[in-house]
Amino acid sequence: MTSSGSDAGNAAARTEELVKRYGSGQAAVTALDGVSMEMPRGSFTAVMGPSGSGKSTLMQCMAGLDSIDSGRAWIGDQEITSLPDRQLTRLRRDRIGFVFQAFNLLPVLSAAGNITLPLDIAGRDADRDWLSTVVDAVGLADRLTHRPSELSGGQQQRVAIARALVSRPEILFADEPTGNLDSRASAEVLDLLRRCVREFGQTVVMVTHDPVAASYSQRVVFLADGRIVGTLDQPTPSAVLDRMRALGEPAGAEPGPLVDRGHAGGADLARQAGPGKE
Ligand code: ADP
Repeated sequence: MTSSGSDAGNAAARTEELVKRYGSGQAAVTALDGVSMEMPRGSFTAVMGPSGSGKSTLMQCMAGLDSIDSGRAWIGDQEITSLPDRQLTRLRRDRIGFVFQAFNLLPVLSAAGNITLPLDIAGRDADRDWLSTVVDAVGLADRLTHRPSELSGGQQQRVAIARALVSRPEILFADEPTGNLDSRASAEVLDLLRRCVREFGQTVVMVTHDPVAASYSQRVVFLADGRIVGTLDQPTPSAVLDRMRALGEPAGAEPGPLVDRGHAGGADLARQAGPGKE
């Protein structure tokens, strides 16, 4: 159950022929249809594709938030497919960071309380140096006592990113992290994600439908009908837009902010956090 026995080597996350179906019989939907990909450590990858192409499902399966029907997936050298629930919960808590479109901050806690929440749930003390590095990086040192309702959308998402980073995850998954933000706040959040990669060596995987957001990444992976249909290195917004058009959906045509995707909400954070001290 430990290692893949293959050359996972420098990959922060990897999949091999991932297949995910929802439903059964006539109503069955193949959301992922044999996806093999690798996220090198310290890389920033954007996942794009038309609505319903499997982007969120891929992220959920790579992060161990959803089961798969066949294929294999690894975080680092740990194969997560068929990992028992308890170990999977711990792995998500300790080795994966999540950022969601809707921020998913707890309204009753201050920014500081939200940032350290994963550690508090796990019964761990914060590494003070790392915590102050993270707080500095997200530029919220003077907002730590504020509650989410007293922060702008961009500031709330930066709190969420700090929360995702606080346990020094090996990989950070972000699902439409700028979907609820205006262009200025989006630019701040995307710049922050890029700095996490450059300055902290963080690995980031971001689902987005926005070509500008994708252009902050180093590589775009395009999905259609649950399959990888192309990649684009060093993407520019116009090159991304051209690819998206070729896939038959104008970029930006996806549902807007706060659409309930049914599987990317607060419950995921609770599952990520999992039980307390073990
Ligand atoms: P994207 O993120 O690219 O919009 P999704 O990963 O959300 O795509 O969905 C891929 C396919 O799987 C779609 O056809 C969608 O309707 C289906 N799907 C996703 N989640 C579920 C679910 N919980 N139950 C049934 N079908 C689902």
